[in-house]
Parts: sequence; C-alpha cells; structure tokens
Amino acid sequence: MELWLTLRFRGAPLGLRDRFPSELAFIARQLRSLDGPEVPPNDRISTAYVRLTPEQAELVVAWGRVRGVDGRTLLASATYEERWRPHELAGAAAVELARAPAVGPPLVIGRSRSHLAHWACSYCDRLRAEQVGPLELALDEPADVELVHRARPELLISQAGELVVSSRLRPVLERYGLATRPVVGTRSWLQVEVQTTARLASVPPIESVGRPCRGCAEQRLVRKEGPEERNDVRIVRTASWTLVEPLPSGVSLAWSEQRLGFSGVVNDAPVHPMGAPIDLDLHPGLFGEQGAPVLLASAEFAIALADARAGGLEVLPVRGLAAGRREVAPHAASC
Ligand SMILES: [Zn+2]
Repeated sequence: MELWLTLRFRGAPLGLRDRFPSELAFIARQLRSLDGPEVPPNDRISTAYVRLTPEQAELVVAWGRVRGVDGRTLLASATYEERWRPHELAGAAAVELARAPAVGPPLVIGRSRSHLAHWACSYCDRLRAEQVGPLELALDEPADVELVHRARPELLISQAGELVVSSRLRPVLERYGLATRPVVGTRSWLQVEVQTTARLASVPPIESVGRPCRGCAEQRLVRKEGPEERNDVRIVRTASWTLVEPLPSGVSLAWSEQRLGFSGVVNDAPVHPMGAPIDLDLHPGLFGEQGAPVLLASAEFAIALADARAGGLEVLPVRGLAAGRREVAPHAASC
C-alpha cells in the first residue's frame, strides 16, 4: 500500500521551512503556497502532496500539533489517500472497486428506456428500479474508437454504481463468470452484470443521517470520511467497509444491499401510490437521488483485472467479520 497525504500548513512556505525537523525536511521542500501576496503571511496556507510511510505520517501529524505564535497548530489538515495494488489484497474478504480520483462517473442518459421504476414507499422518494434495456452513455469520444491507450480509464462506475468496462476486458469477465450487456451505440464498452448483493455491517464508516422514513423506516446512509479532529488538526481518511458475510464462493461482483447517499424527499405524510410505476422522463432527477450501492469484487477478480492492466483500476480493502467478530481482513487495512 502506498500512502499519500495532502498536507495543509498555516503560513507561507518560506516561513515554515525552517521550522520542520530534519527528518521531515523533505516535506518542507515540497510546500507550495495556495495564496497570493494579497494574503498576509500568517494567514496563508501552504500545501504539500507527499508519499509517506505510516510512521512518517504519524510523525508529521504529531509534529504538526505544535502551535505557532498565534496559538494555532502549524498543520491545519491531513488528508490520507491509500493506494492499494490488488495483489496486496489477495487475502481480503472482498475489495471495493472505487472510482479513480481523476475519472468522473460516466453520464447515463435515457433512464426511462433502460429502467422500469416503481415507488418503493408512499412517504419518501425511494424507488425500486429494474434494468430492462441497455444503458446509454453520453461519451466524450466517438463511440466506436477502440480503447488502445492503456493510460485511459477502462473501468467506469456510474453515479448509480453500474460498472462499465472496455470491451477489451471481455475474456477476463467471462473467465470470472460475469455476464455483460451491450451499451447503446458503441462496441467499445460493455456493462458488467452484478451477480448478487451483500450486506455491509453497521460499523463505521457506514453512518445514518437524520431520522428514519415514517413509511419504510429506511435511513439515509453515508460513508463517514472524517473529518476527525485531533488537537485542532483536521484528519480526513477513508475507512474500509466491513461485510457481514464474505462473498459467496464463485461470486466475482456484488453490490452492497445498502445504498449510500439517498438525497430524495422524505415526507411526513403519504404522497406516492406505493408500487405504482414512475415515468422517469417526468421525474428527471429522481434516479440520481437514489444514491448508489458500494461495488464489491472478489480479490481474485480484481487481481485478474490488474494482470490484464485494466486502466483506472482503483481498489480498497473490505473487511469481513468472522465468528466472534474477529477481523479477517488484511492487517494493514487498519492503518
Ligand atoms: Zn420511505
């Protein structure tokens, strides 16, 4: 695992440089100011994006609590970013397929043609949707250009958690028992069918926000990503999900049962005819408000994608709960 930190310090780079202890001087050399000369030096923020060992990260956070003359800590915030190689997660209960930071979700259009939707609850805007046709993507490039550039992303995760991959990867998908659907108007991309669902344990980072819906009792769930305050230093890190049970053997791709980030309306009184069909063209924002499940893959499938050099593959460990709630995920995942 590579650990990358985005560090934000209070002060201008020049003023800060001399204050760093010698073992952290390499960070001082990378500081860049985020502010122009119009900002007084003491109010400036300097930032560095550095790869550190876990020990160095501890050291910089501990040292960053030193207070300047104004009584504020030198370090304002530290954002942790873990980059795992799938091979490092070979023993994991599962892995999370995550969106690469530089790659936005593909824009899916025409949901009324690809999906049938019904109101799932009479009080809130939750819906039950079933895919009945191929997805249609608003792609930037001409639809039938072959994806030959390895640096380009070959795995796209839609806002709703659907996995769309370069058709070059079809043999890998077939080897892992995964069925595909075509994507409207292009042979370069395939949608991968998700085989099953798996339940995330109700432990951090899953967090419920607000009160449950009076109709369906569902709560809005989010991934809690900090910030955690440690003596005025803001720490942001992405914690791993925990699965109630490991993925069944032979399953390569699953969605979490829970959806994260539902942002639809929750009413105090019934407003929808539950179970009635919804015309998604008349409610254009509704599908996007449903949030998305977490996309989970077996470690073996993620390794196969890595071996096929799938561009844009980002994985995070997922823990499993064994009997007695002992963690069976990779030891390093807790760091
Ligand atoms: Zn509801």
